Amino acid sequence: MNIRTGVPMRKSIEALVAKKLRCSPADIEHICVVRRSVDARRKPNIYLVFTVDVAFHDEEKTWRRCRDAKDVRRIAETAYVPPKPGDVVLRHRPVVVGTGPSGLAAALALARGGYKPIVFERGCDVDTRTAHVEEFWNGGPFRPESNVQFGEGGAGTFSDGKLTTRVNHPLLRHILQTLVDAGAPPEILYAYNPHVGTDILRNVVKNMRHMIELAGGTVCFQSRVTSIRRDERGRVCAVTVNGEDEYETDVVVLGIGHSARDTYYMLHDEGVVLEKKPFAVGVRIEHDQQVIDRGQYGCNAAELGLDPADYALVYHSPEGRSCYSFCMCPGGAVVAAASEEGRVVTNGMSLYRRDSGVANSALVVNVTTDDVGSGPLAGIEFQRRYEELAYQAGGSNYHAPAQTVGSFLKGSSPAEAAVHTYRPGVTWTDLHGVLPDFVTSTLERALPYFGRKIRGFDDDGVVMTGVETRTSAPVRIVRGEDRMAVDAAGLYPVGEGAGYAGGIMSAFLDGLETANEIIRKYQPLEVVV
Ligand code: FAD
Repeated sequence: MNIRTGVPMRKSIEALVAKKLRCSPADIEHICVVRRSVDARRKPNIYLVFTVDVAFHDEEKTWRRCRDAKDVRRIAETAYVPPKPGDVVLRHRPVVVGTGPSGLAAALALARGGYKPIVFERGCDVDTRTAHVEEFWNGGPFRPESNVQFGEGGAGTFSDGKLTTRVNHPLLRHILQTLVDAGAPPEILYAYNPHVGTDILRNVVKNMRHMIELAGGTVCFQSRVTSIRRDERGRVCAVTVNGEDEYETDVVVLGIGHSARDTYYMLHDEGVVLEKKPFAVGVRIEHDQQVIDRGQYGCNAAELGLDPADYALVYHSPEGRSCYSFCMCPGGAVVAAASEEGRVVTNGMSLYRRDSGVANSALVVNVTTDDVGSGPLAGIEFQRRYEELAYQAGGSNYHAPAQTVGSFLKGSSPAEAAVHTYRPGVTWTDLHGVLPDFVTSTLERALPYFGRKIRGFDDDGVVMTGVETRTSAPVRIVRGEDRMAVDAAGLYPVGEGAGYAGGIMSAFLDGLETANEIIRKYQPLEVVV
């Protein structure tokens, strides 16, 4: 049974459920919170809203009594059942490229189905990668194959680990449960805006690797897929790793993420059908977390026993551009997220506790396919242009260009600000020089508009750091109804890099659904070896 009920804070859920269902607490066998959200629309009254699943000792009797109650419905419990294998015989082990959420999900489903996948990841294992990234953030060398975009866990490893998605799909609960099994906090199963935090996420991805290996898969790091060979009928027949080792295979799941630009070029050269797609670019903005808490709750979140507040803002310009907040990280830090030498890219992350006291979010403006020029890879060159400008404006040492909102809006000379978290450092400069005009002019109008939504949002001393270019893939690897790349049988592009997902959850879902499609078609490998 499923009930939606608004609950003033600090009251017992069980007592409220019993009251709502007109039963005694003793009738209740089990209560499970499946969603918890905060309703702050009627400040200063803040409500926690719970959706709960309730099982009763005598369900029929209770249901007869409460079935007309508002916000109550009866549901049947459904467990995830993997698909039945198909009958096409595989000659070789399937290959999964990338250990981001999409690759991990596909590899785990295939391994558990008995398909013994081989996973190739260009970056390092998460412990080595974490050491490399920390070294870079502290002013050490930039590593093109081991950074915030590349390595075990993919792009989201150094993230806030937000698990929100606009997709509504029955498999999402199974995915959350898989993450909990791998070490994510159990509250992600019911929190309205679930998040894991980079500190816990690093263990989760490592545990998922162990789960894949335990089920018969193999995971190889520092193994970049440099070529995908197809036979005369266009069917995938082998992949080359690091330009030298060839592995025969009939199935390649390609979960390369949005930053594998060399791999996109390789696919283009090999005749795989690609098309450009819209994305967005802009800056990271940072606030004292208390500014955001007060704007959303009317006081500090901690005073109410709540987590630091987040926000989602959008502004539509008369010219048809939109500026919106993206990947908002309460209590986090802005991170250096470049994956190519001589370029600067920003992003955001936070720890599980979200306790840095600084809120950050991307503020980005939509880029259309007409903005970037011709050819399927034009969006990549567009991103590169502004990342290079940012690198130069930052001082050509991976420091990022930064400016206060006051200086940006008034055109005054860039002044230093107190609150900024980007490492290895920032250079105070004019951000108009590192972004397209249509982006800066839209930002100029959006900031005061956002300031009217959250007081203090556009205060003079607030810092913006640039450039934020990796919001989503600028390329789509075109695939058909069967999830295979057009004219490339056996090649299954998945996740954010394929252009069919955005964010951790939807990438995970895409990888899982694609693996299930492969399972429905092929026999498990054990049958044929
Ligand atoms: P990726 O995670 O990008 O993984 C691709 C993997 O493929 C990488 O590990 C890469 O090294 C590997 N690879 C690429 N090319 C090759 C090759 N040729 N051979 C072998 N391996 C290859 N999303 C959220 O939902 N919530 C968040 O809080 C959030 N925060 C983020 C914070 C940061 C700093 C970043 C960078 C991203 C964040 N995202 C967040 C976005 C999220 O991480 C991505 O949407 C998600 O990781 C996409 O998953 P994926 O599997 O498609 O690709």
